Parts: sequence; C-alpha cells; structure tokens
Amino acid sequence: MTTPDPLSIDAFRDAGHALIDWLADFHAGIAYRPIRPDVAPGEIRSRLPAAAPEEPEPFGSLLADLDDVVVPGLLQWQHPGWFGYFPSNTSPASILGELASAGLGVQGMLWATSPAATEIESHVLDWLVDLMGLPATWRVDQGPGGGVIQMSASDSTHTAHVVARDIATRDGAATDDVVAYASAQAHSSVEKGARVAGYRHVRLVEVDGVQALRPQALAAAIASDLAAGLRPAIVTSAIGTTGTAAVDPVAAIADLAVEHGLWHHVDAAYAGSAMLCEEFRHHQVGVDRVDSYTWNPHKWLFTNFDCSVFWVADRAPLIRALSILPPYLRNAASDAGEVVDYRDWHVPLGRRFRALKLWWVLRSFGAADLRLRIREHVRLARELADRIEAHPNLRVVSPVHFGLVCFEHADGDAATDRVAAAVNLDPGLYVTPSVLDDRHIIRVAIGQARTTAHDTDRLWAVINATA
Ligand code: PLP
Repeated sequence: MTTPDPLSIDAFRDAGHALIDWLADFHAGIAYRPIRPDVAPGEIRSRLPAAAPEEPEPFGSLLADLDDVVVPGLLQWQHPGWFGYFPSNTSPASILGELASAGLGVQGMLWATSPAATEIESHVLDWLVDLMGLPATWRVDQGPGGGVIQMSASDSTHTAHVVARDIATRDGAATDDVVAYASAQAHSSVEKGARVAGYRHVRLVEVDGVQALRPQALAAAIASDLAAGLRPAIVTSAIGTTGTAAVDPVAAIADLAVEHGLWHHVDAAYAGSAMLCEEFRHHQVGVDRVDSYTWNPHKWLFTNFDCSVFWVADRAPLIRALSILPPYLRNAASDAGEVVDYRDWHVPLGRRFRALKLWWVLRSFGAADLRLRIREHVRLARELADRIEAHPNLRVVSPVHFGLVCFEHADGDAATDRVAAAVNLDPGLYVTPSVLDDRHIIRVAIGQARTTAHDTDRLWAVINATA
C-alpha cells in the first residue's frame, strides 16, 4: 500500500474525518474507561521505536497508536467521575475551535500579522468583562484597561509581578528591595512568578480560620518592610484558593494597596467562572480598585487548556514594562497607535489564536446555559457538603463557596486516608487527598463538564460506605 503525500489535501480530509470520529467515540465512551492509567514509569516509552521513522507512515497507524499507546497512559480528566485537583474541561465547540485555530495556522503577535485574531480576542474579552460584572473600563474598547489571553494563570501572575517591579523601581529603587505579598494559602505560582521576576522578598501572610488573608497581618508586614527600608510593590488576593477555594477580602486588601501604592493583582484562576452568575459576585467586591485579574476559562468554563485571561485596569504600565520595538516589527498600523499589539501584553512574541475556541464556547453554549451548568455544579457541591456534615464521622473543613468540598474523617489522618484510598480504588472516581493545617483532608472538585448527580451519588456511596 502506498502512503499518501503528507501534504495531500484529500488525505487530510479523510484523516480529519477519521480523527473526529475517533474523538467522538472517545468522549461517548469515556465514562466506561478507568480514570487512572495503569502503567509503570518508562512503560509508554518502551512501546515506541528507538529511532524516528525514515519512511512515511499512514494516518491509520498514527490513529491506532492513540488506542494502543496513548490512551492507556492517560489520566482521564474528561471523565464524569473526575473530582481531582480542579477541572480541566473541554467541550465540542472548544475542541473544534482549537482544531480550527491549528488549521488556520496564523501568528497573532501584532494586529498587522492577523487583524481578526487580535480583534476577536479583544471583543470576546470585552464581552466577558460585562458577563462577569467587572469594571467597564477594563474593556479594550473603553479603556484604559484591557484583557489578553495568556497560556496560564502562572504567566499572568508572573507578568503582574514584572509590571509592579517596573513601577516600583522607576525612581531608581533597587530591585533587591522590592517586596511581594500574598496569603499563606496563595497558589505556588505567586511565589514562582515573583521569584522569576527578580523579587528577593516574598511574604506569605497569615490567614484566618477560613483560610483568607488577614488584612491586619498584611498591614503589619508592609509596615515592617517599610521600616526596614524595603519597597512594597505588589499584593495578590485570591478569589478561590487552590487548597480550599478560600476568598481573600479583596476590598480590605485594596484599601491597603491604595494607601501604600502597591499593585493589586487578583488570582481568580478557578473561581472566576462563577462570576458569570451574579449571586457569586459578592466575593469580588473591591475589584473596581484592583490593578489586574487572572482567570482560567481552561478550568471551569468548558474551554480547552490553554486559555487564561489576564485583565489590567490600565494597560499603559503593562505595555511600558514589556514593549521593545525592533525594526522588523514596525508597521503603519502600530506606528499610528490605532491598534492593539498583543505581543506587548505578555512575555512571548508569537501567539496562537486562542480566542477562537473561547469565542466558540460562548456562542455554542450561550451565557444563560453556562450559568446553569456552573450553578448545578455548585448545587451538587452543597448537596455533598450537607451529606458529609450529616454523617457522624465526617466534617467539612472549609466553607463551600463554589464547587470545591474539603472534608476530613473525625478519627484523624489514617481514617481520612482510608476514605480517600477507597474512592481512588474505584476506577470511575478520582479525588485529591491533601493537607490543611497539618491535617489530612480530601478535596472534591465538582466541575467536570459531564458530571451529574449520578456521579456525585456514586462518589457519596463510596465515601459513606467507608466512613
Ligand atoms: N491559581 C490558582 C488559584 C490555581 O488553582 C491554579 C491552578 O490550579 C493556578 C493559579 C495555576 O494555574 P495555571 O496552571 O493556569 O498556571
């Protein structure tokens, strides 16, 4: 059999149809697959040829290896029994948007290098400003703020630290003296982003009984650093921490940030999706006085990784910190100052057309349906929390603000571990064991696109039988 030319359009058409059929079957059958891969380290590699092929292979062989080599080595994040970490969702429109973006194969680093990529991104993020109740001045078309899609919340948070450092050292202050603050429950990306941005001082501030940053402790840390001659530069508030989905008091932190001239960044990577629903927006009161905000549609908004939104209240300091203009990037539209050039809004120059999948998600679901799905996940989380609280041996250890339920066994760590092990022995369930205040807990993140009450009932049956 002859293998077609790898650039053949006819063969591409056939292979594309076959791949979509394969993916449709994969998603249709995912609930019947074991969530966890059963492979030893090195086992997948051992199934691959030692050297790259010299001769072309037919697409059918590539597709067969998805079944034979790839899928057995995957953790099934799209399984409806997925309650681990946070969700990392897909949806048909998002998968197709990702494919369309790859098929179009454009580089949107400048407006001029693909105007549609830039303008659709700005427009979709402006829609989301309105949908999430964020300040209208964060819309690119109103300004002075604006939004940009980055690869990850870690990138956005790193970028915020770069901008804050740039502002704090403009008067000649030493980079060695700048200080970053966040709560002791902040995601590790805050400390990492600060470190990469050159901060020698990162203060992880004490939290209260519900894992939220204590503003008094932040005030004391800032005062102590000022007294030591240091330069407080940035504070990050979390709306939905990774550990327990705790919410920092954004308004009280904004008071301190404004008083001391700190850049105030919000990490709503997970819980930002809930802001589509008005009833959750009390968690972001004060957001009208923050400087930047990161949120991952690639977690809970049915959009494939990677798609992380970074909004700034004022885009001028961001662009000032990151813009460098070599002669080969000059063009009339940029020179006229009439366009957004997203290369100036993050570290990379080249950029994928990631807005396409987000645009398609919003259009294929519609905002009303997205709100229903998020509300249903939160309803299921509250129902599970009620069942746990009603059980004599179990207790919920943190407020259930969104879709995350954290609980422990009253008999201590060994008993909690026993429940987690029983759940994770079930091939159709997956939870993340964790630690809070030196005690073992179980995190149940309800938010997988296809999770229903049937799945949370299955989960509860195993917990109840073991506890
Ligand atoms: N912030 C929070 C609150 C998170 O939960 C996570 C990941 O789970 C991150 C940041 C990092 O997200 P990313 O993987 O997009 O860098």
